[in-house]
Amino acid sequence: MAYAQVVVEIASAQVDRVFDYVIPEELRDRICPGMRVRVPFGLKELEGYVMAITESSDVPAGRLRPIGRLLDDDPAILPPLMELARWMVSQYHCLWVEALRLMIPAQMRGQRVKEKTARAARLVLSGPDALSLAQLWQKRAPQQALALRSLVEAGGEGVCASLPGPASVWRALEKKGVVTLFEQRIYRTPARLATPECPVTLTGEQRAALDKLIPALQTGGGRFLLHGVTGSGKTEIYLACARQALAMGKGVIILVPEIALTPQMVARFTGAFGALAAVLHSRLSAGERLDEWQRIRQGEARVVIGARSAVFAPLMSPGLIVVDEEHEPSYLSEHRPCYHAIEVADQRCRREGAVLLLGSATPSLEHYRQAQAGGLTLLRLSRRAIATGGMPRVELVDMRRELAAGNRSVISGSLYDALCQCLARGEQALLFLNRRGYASFVSCRACGYVERCELCDLSMTYHKGRDELICHYCGSTRPVPEICPSCGSRSIRYFGGGTQKVQEEMERLFPEVKTLRMDADTTSGKEGHLKIYEAFRDHQAQVLIGTQMIAKGLDFPMVTVVGVVAADQTLFLPDYRAAERTFQLVAQVAGRAGRARRPGRVIVQCYTPEHYALKAAANHDYEGFYRQEIEIRRADGFPPFTRFLRLVFSHEDEDACQKDMQEALSQMRVACAQHIEWGSSIVMLEGTPAPLTRIRALYRYQLLMKIYPEPYGRQIEEALAEMARRSAPYGSQVAMEINPQSMV
Ligand code: ADP
Ligand code: ZN
Ligand code: ZN
Repeated sequence: MAYAQVVVEIASAQVDRVFDYVIPEELRDRICPGMRVRVPFGLKELEGYVMAITESSDVPAGRLRPIGRLLDDDPAILPPLMELARWMVSQYHCLWVEALRLMIPAQMRGQRVKEKTARAARLVLSGPDALSLAQLWQKRAPQQALALRSLVEAGGEGVCASLPGPASVWRALEKKGVVTLFEQRIYRTPARLATPECPVTLTGEQRAALDKLIPALQTGGGRFLLHGVTGSGKTEIYLACARQALAMGKGVIILVPEIALTPQMVARFTGAFGALAAVLHSRLSAGERLDEWQRIRQGEARVVIGARSAVFAPLMSPGLIVVDEEHEPSYLSEHRPCYHAIEVADQRCRREGAVLLLGSATPSLEHYRQAQAGGLTLLRLSRRAIATGGMPRVELVDMRRELAAGNRSVISGSLYDALCQCLARGEQALLFLNRRGYASFVSCRACGYVERCELCDLSMTYHKGRDELICHYCGSTRPVPEICPSCGSRSIRYFGGGTQKVQEEMERLFPEVKTLRMDADTTSGKEGHLKIYEAFRDHQAQVLIGTQMIAKGLDFPMVTVVGVVAADQTLFLPDYRAAERTFQLVAQVAGRAGRARRPGRVIVQCYTPEHYALKAAANHDYEGFYRQEIEIRRADGFPPFTRFLRLVFSHEDEDACQKDMQEALSQMRVACAQHIEWGSSIVMLEGTPAPLTRIRALYRYQLLMKIYPEPYGRQIEEALAEMARRSAPYGSQVAMEINPQSMV
């Protein structure tokens, strides 16, 4: 007898294990691990994943039921990806089915999307024979003659709809025994731009980086951090490495933060690799997504470009995984399972003998620290590839002075002057506004004072409902001040102001200049970003105003002025990464200016020009920023020195939610008392309402803690995961997040 161990398609802790099934005689030769099957389960029939085939089962034979049928001819999940799922379960404390679901497009489950086919014709005769027949029929049956000739030209096979002649003509040809008709699989491929390849002579720095990367690709392993300033030509390195991997018969995965925001990267790769390239992201239609996935699975596409979930692309033998803009928060999944795509990429590379290449102009502190310790090989591109003017000049403008001088506009005098000159020269400008995070903080427009928690030194968050300020790290509260405690001004208010306001202001200041706005409101629809992007590229507007959407990856040679409307907006988010995020954003935005032959100018408006993150960003001084920031993290016990853990409780009933949080807190205290050795490994912070206290009618409370990895970190995390897994006594849902990227 043979048995299959199957994980069924129900995301519940109760059925989070394999179930044994008997393999019917007729399936025995075809079934293998990684295939999807239909199986009886209770009174229902469910989809499931074959995890293993065994010779014996612990369940008495009489109680086993047979597999219903196979859903795949070939395993949908390749063996290395089955192993990766296994790793995900232990690493992220997720359910089996949650890990397996990541390995296939959602559309495959429940066969919600059908494969598309089309009627196609294949020549039965030889080419010359067919041509002489066509010659013969030229008079009597000109349509058939034409169809036949076109089929010969197409190489003897083709989809009827794309050849001349209606269906009746093809049926007639089939009747005559000249062609056979059959249903051919059609792949729906998404519309995309393709930038034609233009060979460049690599710079010395690019060459030096490749001299390290190519041998690593050849030997099949290595981990690299490419620290290259904006415009230094990192893409050229990715392309060269991809070519090398392909030449070795391997596949390539390029991860980008969000596909819609990086149209140029996609265009470069589709331009270079044509049909060998596939694109995976959430904005594809269901059919496109399924088909792109299958082109990869069949080996027709070997270069995959996509957002974080593309790390699970079914490539047969990946030789290279690139993570561009590796510092971006979007690589951490905010849905269950909360995996980090870079950790997964690293794991996949190690298991499949591929090179991991992380790239950024502003590497995350964590990876830069790893590079310093030798865990990642650091490669540097310190100069721009073509910009003759070098890095753009960055000016910090003190908005407190603007107010003192009577300018109440969101556009400072310096920015106004820079825009006047730029627009008069017929060049383009970007205006950037930061709207990350929903938390609002209170600040003084006259002196820049921000209400901070005395215990945590992090800015306090204004809660509208309660009309008070709360520290989201320790829970202390304070009333909202009416006058500034620092300077006595009444201009103390909530930070805010959106892109729309900036656009109105621009229209007032420059009535004749055309502006475009890119934010969550203007980019709905499948290709919303692409349209705005193309309009700006084609100079239909001179100024593009946007949120962080416009911060990354764009390469417009005519952009010479970049304005950051309020750079400190991120600086005072209640997040230990606030300084890092601000540095990254200013550096990235500044990187959009003066990328070609014209020099760039960057105006950064802020209330705290003396802040080290802003000063370092203005000086293009990553190293300097890193040295200061890493010491602060070390002193305060934040990542990368600890793992920052958050348990989020959600419940319809606020009281129950808070009680569950309190209950968990006291349980943790008991556990810590029992394991006194944990004492030095864990720092418990208070439980507080989550910054977004209510989402979709659910109240949310959170419990935060810092965990030092050695020596008991793993043990403590296991205990917490177990706690999160058991539902809370008052019925709250509990989610555990490790180093959550956003604290809302
Ligand atoms: P990054 O991704 O590092 O910000 P890009 O890869 O977008 O930079 O390159 C910036 C610009 O420089 C692009 O227009 C690119 O075509 C050009 N470029 C890159 N390398 C070279 C080179 N060796 N010679 C000429 N132009 C180059
Ligand atoms: Zn003040
Ligand atoms: Zn506090």
